Amino acid sequence: MPNGGVAYFSAEFGLDESLPIYSGGLGVLAGDHIKAAADMNIPITGVGIFYSKGYFQQSINEGGSQQHLYPYIDPEASTYPVQLVRDAEERPLIIEVRVGSRQVYAKAWSVQVGSVTLYLLNTDVESNSDKDRRLTDTLYPSEQDVRISQEMILGIGGARLLAALGIQPEVWHMNEGHSAFLALERIRMLSAEGVPFETALETVKASTVFTTHTPVPAGHDVFSIDMMDRYFCDYYWQLGTDREQVLSLGSLNGTFNMTRLAVSTSSKVNGVSKLHGEVTRDLFHGWMPHIPRQDIPIYSVTNGVHIGTWLADGMKMLFDRYLPSDWAVRSEELDVWAAVRDIPATQLWEEHQRAKSEMVRELGLPLDLSGDGPLIVGFARRFATYKRALLIFRDLERLAHILNDPQRPVCLVFAGKAHPADGPGKELIRRIVEISREERFKGRVYIVDNYAMDKAKKLVQGVDVWLNTPVKPMEASGTSGQKAAMNGVLNCSVLDGWWVEGYNGRNGWAIEGATDTDPDQQDQQDSETLYRLFEEEIVPLFYKRGEHAVPTEWINMMKESISSLAPVFNTRRMVSDYWHKVYVPAIARGRRFVADNFEVASRVAAYKQFIRDHWSAVSVRKVEILADHSSRIGLNKIAFRAEIGLGAIWHKDVRVEAVGADGRRGIWKAKLDPVQQLAKGLYVYEGVSPDVSINIWKANANVRVTPISSDFANDFEMELAAWGAVPCTS
Ligand SMILES: *Cc1c(COP(=O)(O)O)cnc(C)c1O
Repeated sequence: MPNGGVAYFSAEFGLDESLPIYSGGLGVLAGDHIKAAADMNIPITGVGIFYSKGYFQQSINEGGSQQHLYPYIDPEASTYPVQLVRDAEERPLIIEVRVGSRQVYAKAWSVQVGSVTLYLLNTDVESNSDKDRRLTDTLYPSEQDVRISQEMILGIGGARLLAALGIQPEVWHMNEGHSAFLALERIRMLSAEGVPFETALETVKASTVFTTHTPVPAGHDVFSIDMMDRYFCDYYWQLGTDREQVLSLGSLNGTFNMTRLAVSTSSKVNGVSKLHGEVTRDLFHGWMPHIPRQDIPIYSVTNGVHIGTWLADGMKMLFDRYLPSDWAVRSEELDVWAAVRDIPATQLWEEHQRAKSEMVRELGLPLDLSGDGPLIVGFARRFATYKRALLIFRDLERLAHILNDPQRPVCLVFAGKAHPADGPGKELIRRIVEISREERFKGRVYIVDNYAMDKAKKLVQGVDVWLNTPVKPMEASGTSGQKAAMNGVLNCSVLDGWWVEGYNGRNGWAIEGATDTDPDQQDQQDSETLYRLFEEEIVPLFYKRGEHAVPTEWINMMKESISSLAPVFNTRRMVSDYWHKVYVPAIARGRRFVADNFEVASRVAAYKQFIRDHWSAVSVRKVEILADHSSRIGLNKIAFRAEIGLGAIWHKDVRVEAVGADGRRGIWKAKLDPVQQLAKGLYVYEGVSPDVSINIWKANANVRVTPISSDFANDFEMELAAWGAVPCTS
């Protein structure tokens, strides 16, 4: 892709275990995203960082404490073709970024993923100081100074790299906020061409999209203003504006927040599952409390996984045989998967057993699979505390009882890394090791070290049940359960993230996920459900043999799981959603904004400036409910009349509406139209509410004014709203 297309920025990419520049789900998703884009011929270029030592290699010692090894990664030894990027004179291409007071140099490696190129920056360059050569050594350093430096290399350096290569993307996708400095750099480049700051900002915003992945504020990167000043003092002025204006793009509670920066500089923001979209709305509502959470413009594109990467070879051969021959390139079509039901139960079971033996052998688990069991339950993901790896250990006696039934043995296999600075995460590992050593859990509880894509593949292909027990709603999406599902491994999961959309009552098991605010109560309720599911449903079903001595009902559930989940939670469906719902609109928007010497961008910039300058005059003066009118139109509809002061703002540049609460989370809106002008800048608006079922006289309805424009990407682009209350009526 020399020109056009999508630039996809991510701090981590999980393509293959031989290239350990990812820590978990975010990176694996990014890797799967570009693989699918390559499969589908979607023009995309990846930009990330080549970490010289990558994410650490984990070993777990006798006492259960996690050891961190940082072997140097040889770029040329990867199974992926990794090449040094060279300039026209065949010299290594060098990108320069001023990081605080230092000039830092970075070279780039390119990785070819089919038709897609991924560029990875690295500062291990001779002209750098020793310290700067180590800047891009490891992923997610705890030291804030290294973190901000890496993010400058990624965002600013990444944008410069594409420019140096002559690549001019039409849409820029920030996968999580780490890369959001790219927006500042793009503004700087436009400013250097003489484009005014506000116009440059609108131009950049039009062609930038942002995917947020973290439902908790603590998961977002935050830098102090002081730190920003130290790193950006030489940079602010290059954007053609002042320091305050640049800082305002990311400022939140007295700090500079990368998620806030990403939101301020993109025209579309999405979460990674429907529920996560909702949760993100709640989170962002905290930043703009004057906009109801339901109105916060967050979309969602639910994650998927790359089938070619995660599906066991044996299963693939089975699908080749029983599904339509082109199933792999039509995997997002529901009916393609209906044929899974035609696979003979014995064959599906045989393939599953083969994957199970391979997993047991590869991971070195001393398990005898010659009988019907054991039923193997897998739990593998980052050891972050919200994922509650210990939930199943809450009642050890009850668990021991479940695992040790001599006729129906059950084994648990755990794997995962804790971030080196995450003390509580590392404690989870220690505790699991301790439990596995107890006499009653010997041979029943295992923990496998150094979880990475290779072991993830074996586990999601070879266990019988995939367990996921996060604290709802902390799991933005989760993807490992999707990998398991397409392999016929049954999910038993809290109804969080993707599973809310995936679970249909027949394709696995669901734990409702207590919403009690007391964490201990939550754990108690969720573990109760979990034990009951194992005791009453999962274990009995697994050991219930049918025809040909295979567990027929279990196999039917595997088929249901594959045929209902694989078509939806794969990256072909996901990338196709991004293409149609996110990229194509952003490309069109970006083109429109730059055309004719930035005509639309400068118009929008000027319009916003005018609105901002005059917004303080906007007021909702007087709101009345027209009682006689309401009796005429029926009890459940209300007619509103409001006097709105608009000052210098034209009445067609605002939307006036009555907004009321409807039940627990919903809101209703009634559009009010101007019916009369009372004086200069003072109008009467009237309108009728929709049929609302609640007792409106007790409901709290308010009238809201918001600035609108057909050039805006959404209804709340300016994050402005003026409110006035309906006086209480008895
Ligand atoms: C898929 C994957 C993850 C993500 O797992 P979740 O269940 O979504 O947390 C993490 N690490 C590796 C190595 C993976 O392959």
